[in-house]
Amino acid sequence: MFVDKASIKIKAGDGGNGAVSFRREKYVAAGGPDGGDGGKGGNIVFMVDSNLSTLADFRYKRKYSAPNGENGSGGRKNGRKGEDLVICVPRGTIIREAESGAIMADMSGDEPFIAAKGGRGGWGNPHFATPTRQVPRFAKDGTPGEEWDIILELKLLADVGLLGFPNVGKSTLISVVSEAKPIIADYHFTTITPVLGVVSMGEGNSFVMADIPGLIEGAGDGVGLGHEFLRHVERCRLLVHIVDAGGSEGRDPIDDFNIINAELVKFNPSLADKPQIVVANKMDLASDEQLKRLEEYFTGKGYEYYTMCAPINEGTKPLINAVWNKLQTLPPVINYEPENIPLEMFEKTDDKGFSITVRDNVYFVEAKWLLKIIQRSDLDDYESLQYFQRVLVSSGIIDALIEKGIREGDTVSIYDFEFDFVN
Ligand code: GDP
Ligand code: MG
Repeated sequence: MFVDKASIKIKAGDGGNGAVSFRREKYVAAGGPDGGDGGKGGNIVFMVDSNLSTLADFRYKRKYSAPNGENGSGGRKNGRKGEDLVICVPRGTIIREAESGAIMADMSGDEPFIAAKGGRGGWGNPHFATPTRQVPRFAKDGTPGEEWDIILELKLLADVGLLGFPNVGKSTLISVVSEAKPIIADYHFTTITPVLGVVSMGEGNSFVMADIPGLIEGAGDGVGLGHEFLRHVERCRLLVHIVDAGGSEGRDPIDDFNIINAELVKFNPSLADKPQIVVANKMDLASDEQLKRLEEYFTGKGYEYYTMCAPINEGTKPLINAVWNKLQTLPPVINYEPENIPLEMFEKTDDKGFSITVRDNVYFVEAKWLLKIIQRSDLDDYESLQYFQRVLVSSGIIDALIEKGIREGDTVSIYDFEFDFVN
């Protein structure tokens, strides 16, 4: 089965903890601190593998986690870092955060994407030695790795998408104009996996054509295959709409054409605005009157219109030339820009608990929901910082710190983020 949508869980590795340790040497009474740092946790990284064409692998494996960093140990031995976990996806996969639906990345290029960052390793106790604190009896724990529920969605990258009812000849067309070899048969829905074909125009020019499985009436409402597959049309720059000129299955090609366009509007109105070239296939099965009627109708509506008999390659050349010329006038394939995951989402969680521990006038705050906000904000940015401060107040963390006896100038440490307390 063709799978073009999958939900998975990803979890980057936690950072290893810093160690508390003191040098122990013969004849030396109390050595200095020598606890090593924790290693960084492994990232979850997505990469495009051009050989993949579906998301089928993700149906069976739903959880992906990268290894944790190792803890530091005595003798200034730092923990080893966790290796990145690389997940391969087909080109054109969109990665979304599941709860908000925000686009995290569009895997169309070859750049790897870090979807979940590994936690930072905690510092060992030598980092906390100061002239007044020569025996630091604490180290820092590593921070947890990012954890996300994500949705993978494949939106094929093709210049041209073929539209048309089952059996009108879409697979036949792509098989004669490109190297792609789809299954051709005269029963409905022979195409269950989209097929991409590269159409060569000579002199190194080419474009990509996608044979998208048959649309059926009601597709826009999610009935049958349609809804799933319409997703792939969204990225095409141009649509070639094929009708069966002879109405060989007893339907009227003009009705077919309008039904499919109505489905496009229902699914996504912007799809209906995509330029279409209309081609009447199976001209060998159509009478002159039938052909004349179609030509009048489609040209009357302002479409570029062609006729062909795909299996014998008749009429395909003018069509392909027209497609090529049209493509020169159209913007490139859509790439989706990453969107911000709304931080307020994490604030809304039911479990807004936190804990505060005090060691040597350092106030360590821990809260899982707050971690997400820290991981996702750039706290060097003034607005993000302000937002973060508001959250600290509204969640009661500031009040709790005061209750614990915090004083002006004491350090507050929230995972990676540290600041001096000012009231
Ligand atoms: P798809 O479902 O749109 O992909 O349609 P196919 O390409 O699989 O074609 C469906 C059937 O119509 C096959 O049996 C083809 O051989 C046949 N066919 C395709 N084009 C033509 C044509 O121009 N004339 C005739 N007579 N048959 C055709
Ligand atoms: Mg087909």
